Amino acid sequence: MADPIRAADVVVVGGGSSGCVVAARLSENPARSVLLLESGPGYRSVSDCPVLDYRTLPVGPGSVFAETYGVELAPSVPSAMVRGHVLGGSGAVNGAYFVRGTEADFRHWPASWSYENVLPAFRALERDADFDDSRHGTTGPMPVRRQPAERLSEISAAFRAAALGAGHPEEPDKNGDGAGGVGPVPLNVDGDRRVSTAVAYLLPAWGRPNLTVEANSDVVRILFSGNETVGVEVESDGVRRTVRTGRVVLAAGPVETPVLLMLSGIGPAEHLMDNGIPIVLDAPGVGSEFSDHPEVALPYRIRDSLRRDDTSPVVETVLNVGDLEIRPYTAPFDVLVPGSGQPDPILGIGLMVTDSRGDIRLTSGHRRDRPRIEYRYAQSAADRRALREGQAIGSELLRSPELGSLLEPLTREVSDRAVLAHLGTSLHMCGSCRMGGRDDVGAVVDEWCNVRGMEGLTIADTSVFPVVPSRGPHATAVMVAERVSTFLRE
Ligand SMILES: Cc1cc2nc3c(=O)[nH]c(=O)nc-3n(C[C@H](O)[C@H](O)[C@H](O)COP(=O)(O)OP(=O)(O)OC[C@H]3O[C@@H](n4cnc5c(N)ncnc54)[C@H](O)[C@@H]3O)c2cc1C
Repeated sequence: MADPIRAADVVVVGGGSSGCVVAARLSENPARSVLLLESGPGYRSVSDCPVLDYRTLPVGPGSVFAETYGVELAPSVPSAMVRGHVLGGSGAVNGAYFVRGTEADFRHWPASWSYENVLPAFRALERDADFDDSRHGTTGPMPVRRQPAERLSEISAAFRAAALGAGHPEEPDKNGDGAGGVGPVPLNVDGDRRVSTAVAYLLPAWGRPNLTVEANSDVVRILFSGNETVGVEVESDGVRRTVRTGRVVLAAGPVETPVLLMLSGIGPAEHLMDNGIPIVLDAPGVGSEFSDHPEVALPYRIRDSLRRDDTSPVVETVLNVGDLEIRPYTAPFDVLVPGSGQPDPILGIGLMVTDSRGDIRLTSGHRRDRPRIEYRYAQSAADRRALREGQAIGSELLRSPELGSLLEPLTREVSDRAVLAHLGTSLHMCGSCRMGGRDDVGAVVDEWCNVRGMEGLTIADTSVFPVVPSRGPHATAVMVAERVSTFLRE
C-alpha cells in the first residue's frame, strides 16, 4: 500500500454534497494537490456505489451510510435526526428532490449572493431534461428531470387532482419564479439512479494524479499556528496522522463542521472553556442559530392497495402554498426508510420559512461524544399558527373526493397539541456557521466563505447559509460549493 499523504495544497474535509464539488473543481488545476477526507465509506466507480436507488433512503437503524443523532425538536419533544455518512454525503442518501432556493430566499443573503448573482451558477450546475431556456441549464453535471404526469403514482396523481380541485394553481416548474402551487418535483435522477455530487463531479475526476480521495478517514482536529491554518489531524483505520496544508475547506455538513471547529478551538469562548478546549478564536456564531424545516405528519390508512411503480421517487409532486410545502410521500416510511418502524403513510406538512433557530453544543472536548442539538421548533406564535394552517389545508386535501376515495385520515385534529404529537424535521439543517457582514457578531464566515479572523480556513457547505432556503437545500448546497470553488480558484 502507498504511504498515506502527509501534505497537500488543499485539504477538503467531508466528501458530501458540497465537498465532492470543491475537490473536483479545485483539482482541475493540475498544479494544485487536493486531498479529500471522508469519514464514511467510499467507492471508486458507479458500479460499486451502494446508494443509487432513489426510491429509498438508506438511513434506517444500523445503516452504515448514515450517522444518527439524538435531538430535541421542541422542549420535551426528543427525536432523532440523520446525516449521510458516505461519499456523496447526505445528497447520496436523500429524497432526490433538487429544487433551487427562490429569488426571495436570497434577499436574506449578502448582496453578492443575490438571485441574479447566483443564477448563472445554478444554470451551470444543472442538466435540465425538461426546460431549455435562459433560466435553466442543459449542460451541467447534475441531471434534473421531473416525473411525467402519466407516470405519477396513484397517491401523487390523486394529490395533484385534489390540490387543483381545491383551487391551488399549477406550478409546472419548481425551479421557476417560486410563485407556488402544485407541480412536479425536479429530481437529480438519471435513469434508475440517484445522482449525488460524488457520482456527478468526483468520480469523473478520480484519475487525476493531483487528487487523492480517502474514505473511512475522520478528521478529528484542524491545526493552527496563531490564526494560520497549518494542517489537520486525521484518523484512518485507528491510526492518527497529521496532514500539513495551508488551506482547509470544511465541508463536513451543518452538524460536524461546527463540531469540528469547536473541538479545534474556534467557537463561543465560554463554551470552549467549559469543555476544556484551548481557545484559538472566540466565534459566538459557531453552532448557533441554525435553521431547518419543521415538518408535521398527517398519517392516514390506505383503503385498498396503492399503485407505486418501479419509477416512483420518494416524493414526486408537492404543493407550495405561502410558507408551507405539502408533500404526499409515495409510500409509508417503513418502505422508504427500511427499518424505520413507521407503517402508516403520511402527508408531510413542511414549514419552509420559520422563526425557529437552534443550537449545536459540545457535551465534552472529545471527538467521540455526541453534540447536544436543540431545534426549538414551534416556539413562536407565528410558527404554531402556520403549522396549524398547514394541518387544516392538508386535512382538507385528505378528505377531498380525489384522495378520500383512496384513504382514510388517522387524525383530523388541528391544534398545537397535534403539531407537537406529530412533529418531525425535514432534515434540511443549514446556517450553523452562517455567512454575514462585519456588523453581524453571529456571522462565522464572510461573503467568500472564509472564516473571519483566520487564514487559510474556508467553509463550503450548508452551514454557511444565512438561513435555510424555503425549498430543500440540496441544489443550493451544490451552487454554494461551485461558487466557493470559483472564489478559491481566483
Ligand atoms: C435522509 C435525508 C433526506 C434528505 N432529502 C433531501 C431532499 O430530497 N432534497 C433536498 O434538497 N435536501 C434533502 N436533504 C438535505 C440535503 O441532502 C443536505 O442539506 C445536503 O446534502 C447537505 O450537504 P452538505 O455538503 O452540507 O453536507 P453533507 O452532504 O451531509 O456532507 C457532509 C460529509 O462530511 C462527512 N464528514 C462529517 N464529519 C467529518 C469529519 N470529521 N471528517 C471527514 N468527513 C466528515 C460526512 O460523512 C458527510 O459525507 C436530506 C437530508 C437527509 C439526511
